[in-house]
Amino acid sequence: MNTLFANLPTTVFETMSRLAREHQAVNLGQGFPDDPGPLDVREKAAQAVVHGWNQYPPMMGLPELRHAVADHYRHWQGLDLDAEAEVMITSGATEALAGALLALIEPGDEVVLFQPLYDAYLPLVQRAGGVARLVRLAPPYWELTEEALSAAFTPKTRLVLFNNPHNPTGRVFSRGELELLAAFCRRSDAVLVSDEVWEHVIFDGHIHQSCLSLPGLRERSVKIGSAGKIFGMTGWKVGFVCAAPGLMKVLSKAHQFLTFTTPPALQHAVAYGLGKPRDWFLDTRAELQRSRDRLALGLSQAGFPVLPSSATYFLNVDLAPLALNIDDAAFCQQMVTQRGVAAIPVSAFYAQEAVRSVVRFCFAKTDATLDLALARLGDVR
Ligand code: PMP
Ligand code: GLN
Repeated sequence: MNTLFANLPTTVFETMSRLAREHQAVNLGQGFPDDPGPLDVREKAAQAVVHGWNQYPPMMGLPELRHAVADHYRHWQGLDLDAEAEVMITSGATEALAGALLALIEPGDEVVLFQPLYDAYLPLVQRAGGVARLVRLAPPYWELTEEALSAAFTPKTRLVLFNNPHNPTGRVFSRGELELLAAFCRRSDAVLVSDEVWEHVIFDGHIHQSCLSLPGLRERSVKIGSAGKIFGMTGWKVGFVCAAPGLMKVLSKAHQFLTFTTPPALQHAVAYGLGKPRDWFLDTRAELQRSRDRLALGLSQAGFPVLPSSATYFLNVDLAPLALNIDDAAFCQQMVTQRGVAAIPVSAFYAQEAVRSVVRFCFAKTDATLDLALARLGDVR
């Protein structure tokens, strides 16, 4: 049996959601919204199921969705994508990530990763035979520095797996940091796999900058998106992969034997949704930003040191200044069992040299849910 997978612990999201159910806790752990998602998009999917969009669609995705993805990114990110040669639909960003790693690395190749890291990355890299080289980001600013990148890149670097906007920190990396990373990728002839699933969940007027727009990266990067995040329906596993034709040919070979296709009714509805008016996307952001501010204010009034969050469904608190003499995992355990509020310890996103003082809360919830969590938490001082 494969010992790597046999020895993996259950993901922190599943563990925390189970604890939340057992303790009837308000679940601000796993990232999913209270809101059921846009009704018109859900109706499109329902009608498509009823009207028979239920057989295998084309392997690369429904043409209408591939074109909708190219049009959407042209409008929102100024990208020029050939829908036929440069866009593929996958069953969620997770499939796209797994496929990219299977397709693009050989055993022994080095892969640069950034901690805290989304929990699926490291096991997928390792199972594909990659050797992880970890760049450690730390609170409160989580910046990318030239020094840290120099230590991680070597002549064996083949691939860089990056996430922007970043889960769990809520960071949007600056143009300067992105250009620095691009320079390292070019210098070491590495492919950049850029997980951009949070590209629309971005606040305070930030503008998402795709890897495909970075100098010299158009031909050597893979952009990954997710309809689950764009429409706030996380169970909808519909992912988008965009890459230059040469890379896409290889990526499509992994896709054909991982899932081959993605449910066509969902693809049809997502194609419709991507064309929704600009204001729908901006209003959705504004609504989430309001929820972020509500939770941030409540937590700071209760004495929690709140770190800035510019994107995603998440904000973090750093317990270090409170000198509570307890680490993030123990704090989350106590919160869920004694206070009835679930959150995620950020140390779970580190493979080594973990930061053990930061706790992640999901704010994509109704005001009533957030207020209930705040009332239960009380003052931390
Ligand atoms: N990457 C990141 C950074 C994520 O946060 C998530 C889900 N929260 C995913 C990938 C998975 O996306 P999907 O559900 O489309 O597989
Ligand atoms: N991406 C979600 C989060 O960060 C959870 C994904 C999952 O449950 N695997 O909370």
